[in-house]
Amino acid sequence: MPKPAHDHPHPRTLILVDIQNDFLPEGALAVPGGNEIIQVANRLQNRFDLLVATQDWHPANHSSFARNPPHRKPGDIVQLGKVEQTLWPAHCVQGTLGAAFPPRLIQNRLDRIVKKGTSTEVDSYSAFFDNARLKATGLLEYLKEKRVVEVYICGLATDYCVKHTALDALSLGFKTWVVEDACRGVNLQPYDAPHALQAMNKAGIKIVSSRHLPF
Ligand SMILES: [Zn+2]
Repeated sequence: MPKPAHDHPHPRTLILVDIQNDFLPEGALAVPGGNEIIQVANRLQNRFDLLVATQDWHPANHSSFARNPPHRKPGDIVQLGKVEQTLWPAHCVQGTLGAAFPPRLIQNRLDRIVKKGTSTEVDSYSAFFDNARLKATGLLEYLKEKRVVEVYICGLATDYCVKHTALDALSLGFKTWVVEDACRGVNLQPYDAPHALQAMNKAGIKIVSSRHLPF
């Protein structure tokens, strides 16, 4: 049995990134094979003391949605302030079924849910900061308060929110692991997900399979 977090000086921490209905194959912004990670993510939960889940949580007029002004196509890139923004189909609108966690995802042990992308004018791929790094989500303070030194990250999608969450975690000083078989990529370009894993690895993030965790 995993030890309860309060017994452990540095709780083993898993961050489940954006495992939400809209990112599953039937969803508004389908990630191919996204449903395949749920079982792996559920199994992983038992190995960790502290569980954090993130939710992409957009207002309906969010500036990352292609349908909103300036009315472009999904996949187009626009400039939002100083940040380049890829446009997406509308997804994960606050309070909708698409933004909810899939019922198959075990949720009763989640210690913290981090909502991101809540400001109309800026997107948030990372669980720590928006893409312009103007606002923090509070996740860093939470992890510090829990004395977390090392994080394991999985979820959707490898080439966007998993990647940005992992790179931020690393830059904030956490020893950072990505559990690759509990991730799937969008792959707007054919090799985006493997390239993202390579970039993370090169930066100093450890890529691991759920079957080969070092504990
Ligand atoms: Zn989003």
